[in-house]
Amino acid sequence: MPLSIDVNLPRNHDAQFPARCVQCNLNTNGNTMRVRTHTIGLLSSLLMVFGKGFTVHIPCCRSCAAKIRNRKLLGLLATIVAAGLVITFVWPQVVDFAPEPLRKWICVGLILVAALPLLLLSVLYPPAFDMTAYGDSIDYEFRHAEYASSFAQLNDDADWVKLG
Ligand SMILES: [Zn+2]
Repeated sequence: MPLSIDVNLPRNHDAQFPARCVQCNLNTNGNTMRVRTHTIGLLSSLLMVFGKGFTVHIPCCRSCAAKIRNRKLLGLLATIVAAGLVITFVWPQVVDFAPEPLRKWICVGLILVAALPLLLLSVLYPPAFDMTAYGDSIDYEFRHAEYASSFAQLNDDADWVKLG
């Protein structure tokens, strides 16, 4: 399956990565890439605010690091373009039929529908590495199952290692 393999570790555990590029599996010659995320919690989801950020340095060779960055940038651009198309072409057709108090939400819904193919693509073809930070744990998400299990083995001294 092309879905990502998740390894959940305690947030305070200093995660060790295999000495190979997270994307192409080759020697990185010590090159790393900084990946940063925000904490997702029930409260922060409800308030739509982001919690304390979490940063790791992942082993990644230079050319793969550039590819991963470009992919993120492209995804962001594509989402902005999708939102722009909805607001320019779809929204004017819908706005008169939308009840006033619901307009904002209908507009957000339309943008989400337009961005759905992108979201689906990122699930079916996940990036080589991604992560999600929770209150007391981190999901390290890998595209390659073999890399994920090496990562889990390297960190088996943590309080828990949950493979998903
Ligand atoms: Zn690489």
